[in-house]
Amino acid sequence: MTMHFNGPRVALIAVACLLTVSACGGDPAEPAASERLAAPELLAAPAPDEPGRSRDVAADGDVGERVVTVEDTDEPAVANLDPDLLAALEDATDDAAEDGITVQINSGWRDADYQSRLLDEAIEEHGSREEALRWVSTPDESAHVTGDAVDVGPTDAAYWMSRYGSEYGLCQTFANEIWHYELTVEPGGTCPPPRSDSAS
Ligand SMILES: [Zn+2]
Repeated sequence: MTMHFNGPRVALIAVACLLTVSACGGDPAEPAASERLAAPELLAAPAPDEPGRSRDVAADGDVGERVVTVEDTDEPAVANLDPDLLAALEDATDDAAEDGITVQINSGWRDADYQSRLLDEAIEEHGSREEALRWVSTPDESAHVTGDAVDVGPTDAAYWMSRYGSEYGLCQTFANEIWHYELTVEPGGTCPPPRSDSAS
């Protein structure tokens, strides 16, 4: 039944608009003066985690809770990576995006103090230095400290990298860390079997 009334009703509103513009809310292409003034301010305030945006970063390479990608070269964790590793990661990130996967960098370059702090935290968490070293290397041994390792995330990105990383030369280094990648082979090469953990 309602369908019968739609036609005449729309026609009536159209007639009202012809008679008086104000009845239809004025011209939508012409914003009010207050809106025109507010627009530039809104554009100058990007979202907090917009990739590539300049923001407060930690000099020691700790990315904290920030969402970091290869585009965030203002992050020391990204900027201090080995240039070849970074280039490979950029290529992989672009191709992963075509598969609908966003590759984030949960950790990249770290300074020695930050690495040392992570090891201390791991000893606390795992109860012994021996067990902690299976997960976190010393500053002298960590490939993160030399800028030769990245931890990627989230999980779907880590799985994508474990499957396709070798096409870019990126190999999973440790069997117990699906997120940790280093530039180990030539692009398209065959990755060596991962070590069981960082202590092996
Ligand atoms: Zn790692």
